[in-house]
Amino acid sequence: MVELEDLPSVGEKTAQKLRDAGFADMMRLATATAKELAVKAEIGEGVAEKVIEAARKAESIDFETAYDVMERRRDVGRITVGSEAFNELIGGGIETQSITEVFGEFGSGKSQISHELAVTVQLPRDRGGLDGECVFIDTENTFRPERIEQISDGFELDHEEVLQKIHIARAFNSAHQILMADKINELIQNGSNIKLVIVDSLMAHFRAEYVGRESLATRQQKLNQHLHALQNIANTYNVAVFITNQVQARPDAFFGSPTKAIGGHVLGHASTYRIWLKKGLAGKRIARLVDSPHLPEGECVFKITSDGIVD
Ligand code: ADP
Repeated sequence: MVELEDLPSVGEKTAQKLRDAGFADMMRLATATAKELAVKAEIGEGVAEKVIEAARKAESIDFETAYDVMERRRDVGRITVGSEAFNELIGGGIETQSITEVFGEFGSGKSQISHELAVTVQLPRDRGGLDGECVFIDTENTFRPERIEQISDGFELDHEEVLQKIHIARAFNSAHQILMADKINELIQNGSNIKLVIVDSLMAHFRAEYVGRESLATRQQKLNQHLHALQNIANTYNVAVFITNQVQARPDAFFGSPTKAIGGHVLGHASTYRIWLKKGLAGKRIARLVDSPHLPEGECVFKITSDGIVD
């Protein structure tokens, strides 16, 4: 294995700076940009370029064949929820190496599904989990350990053990949120078996902080950087990323949906799977798959119970 110190222009001091900034392995370095690396590790941009170039060589990053892509897809893991209809809609569970987004109005069940996944990712593989741990980036203070206890009990898991394997980051503003996402790399490099990263909700801070047309470009640029970091974690460590998003009303829509997800094209393109949640009659919820690279559009109905999501 290539160590940081083996790279050209990297002495002991630079290696330490790289490690402190969360760039401890070759893949993480190889997929960084020179600017990002220079700023985060506090090294010159010239050095950063050389280090990245060398890391890319070490990881033999180049074109790959469709066969290689297919091989990598074989490693894709899936995390299920308690509703079979929901699992089927999304092709057997939410996927690692991808970003899955759910959006919907207040109370539509976004946080409930987040809590459920934080538990089910811990199930063994033969019960629809990945035997893994979870990072939960909570931006609106909606995380409730009591809910985790209830759902764990529903799955007959020891709720204390389950709580130990959920790493909560309470993000106070968008800069903090971006920082916490970057820190996930360190957590994984230090040995945590993270298989799921949840951001609930992705846009709340961005939406509150960047108000008005003139700040829109800056907001989208920061959001893009954040999503890029999340996708990078998903690919590098075979992790599933699950984000929740709000909707904005479209009073001018005569046809089609009267609401749409916020975040614009930047988010629309970053999410591999997009699921729209709606409230139905008698406490039911409707999930509609609106965007997926290889699954048909479709709908399903599920319920939220104290044990979690069920058919
Ligand atoms: P949001 O989309 O705003 O994140 P939530 O995921 O918080 O919405 O969903 C809230 C809804 O979940 C509540 O309106 C309620 O119907 C349901 N819910 C929350 N906790 C429970 C529970 N313990 N048992 C049954 N339903 C619950």
